[in-house]
Amino acid sequence: MYTVAQLIGGVWGAGGAGGELVVRDPADGHPVSTVPVATADEVGKAVEAARGVAPGWAATDPAERAAALHRAADAVQAAAQELAAAVTAEMGKPLADARGGVEAGVGTLRQYAELAPVRGGRTLLGGAESIDFMAPQPRGVVAAITPWNDPVAVSCGLLGAALVTGNAVLYKPSERTPATGWLLARALDEVLPPGVLSLLTGGAEVGAALAGGDVDVVAHVGATATGRQIAAAAARTGAKVLLENGGSDPLVVDAGVDPVWAAEQAALGAFANAGQICVAVERIYVHRDVAEDFVDALVRRAEALRVGPGRDPATELGPLVDRRHRDHVHGQVTAAVAGGARLRAGGVLPDGPGAFYPATVVVDCRHEMTLVREETFGPVAPVVVVDSFSEALRCAADSPYGLAATVLTGSMSHAQRAWRELPVGTVKVNAVFGGAPGGAAQPRRGSGQGFGYGPELLDEFTATKAVHIEAPGGGHW
Ligand code: NAD
Repeated sequence: MYTVAQLIGGVWGAGGAGGELVVRDPADGHPVSTVPVATADEVGKAVEAARGVAPGWAATDPAERAAALHRAADAVQAAAQELAAAVTAEMGKPLADARGGVEAGVGTLRQYAELAPVRGGRTLLGGAESIDFMAPQPRGVVAAITPWNDPVAVSCGLLGAALVTGNAVLYKPSERTPATGWLLARALDEVLPPGVLSLLTGGAEVGAALAGGDVDVVAHVGATATGRQIAAAAARTGAKVLLENGGSDPLVVDAGVDPVWAAEQAALGAFANAGQICVAVERIYVHRDVAEDFVDALVRRAEALRVGPGRDPATELGPLVDRRHRDHVHGQVTAAVAGGARLRAGGVLPDGPGAFYPATVVVDCRHEMTLVREETFGPVAPVVVVDSFSEALRCAADSPYGLAATVLTGSMSHAQRAWRELPVGTVKVNAVFGGAPGGAAQPRRGSGQGFGYGPELLDEFTATKAVHIEAPGGGHW
């Protein structure tokens, strides 16, 4: 059982007068973590303390901040086993995936430690007697508000980039993975100057108090509805907002592709991490010519997945994060079936403890169904049959979200049309996951705004100043 503590103004165990939350293992319902809840007053005090230390950290040499981030990466690496076990216990994902998330987080910390000190501003071609340049400076105090679905990797990105660029950071992990956030904050705090990082725990009300507080940046990775509330709160304070939010990513399966290979890709995209990935495959538009063979192969793959608790090394499909989320997933599936769709695999609530949900394939879906248009965030593959690649692209583009999309095709001209025409941040051709290191995109529409990843995230946490210097009176110094 984890007993989580807050870190406010460099003091562990501070505050928590807002009550206590208990997190339960989604595999069996046993309690895993007890968590203090911050009050609005404690959030205010934490922001004030962060304001106090921010100038000192901003004035620290960039190379020294980078060295601290390298030490932070070492500390997270040293805690990797413990962190991965906490992720699995709190949100249920298979342990190997949880370890992968921690490794990704360590890699991101190291990348930012290397990149930050070599990313300067630029000099300008002003008059011969003057000096003109542009210099990035830390923004001040950053609130980092994060989700539960890949908690270490996502948090390391925001925390690493905000800290190494010289900001004081208030970290609010998800109330579904607070012990994971606590273990991460403990590892980072060991190697950072006191007070540079604070940890506040609790639910939406704690995030809302932070987002409406006296901070300079609110960085939120999470649901679209939350992102919109944060943007509204920040509009009242003038804080900059960085949002990496939900999606309903399409997968287009073109005529002429191998249906069995396409089904492997679809299964990976829809069922990995029980569908709880921001860029999971959320809806499938398959060409009529290959639809039948594709669906048969997808059903076989769905039914072959080994279901179990994340701590069992044989498990391929763990539980959903909790029963509240399972109700949301099952609600969308049953509404689609009531609207004329058909279950080909899964879609039935299992007996027994925990928040398990089977890999589900739903056919005869229509583009306008909620299951297709909205984010489900579960192991569900809704299939819509289309008659042409143009129809598939039109449907894929018609979405309130714009995070990512995948197209499976043997046609280079279709691949070219896909990346040019789809209004999303990331387009993948012939692979549902993957991409070169350092790749970053700006999500569109309800999926957010700004760069949440990659080298460009460093720029999001700095403000660029233009400087013009002349000698006094037009003469000499
Ligand atoms: P969520 O928005 O409910 O919670 C995320 C964080 O926001 C939590 O710490 C929560 O306490 C806080 N929060 C909730 N309400 C708040 C409010 N009114 N003001 C301020 N903070 C508030 O999201 P979630 O359920 O934890 O995460 C799942 C969502 O995250 C999915 O929609 C998924 O697509 C998205 N996600 C997106 C990305 C991306 O990069 N685009 C990555 C991972 C997850």
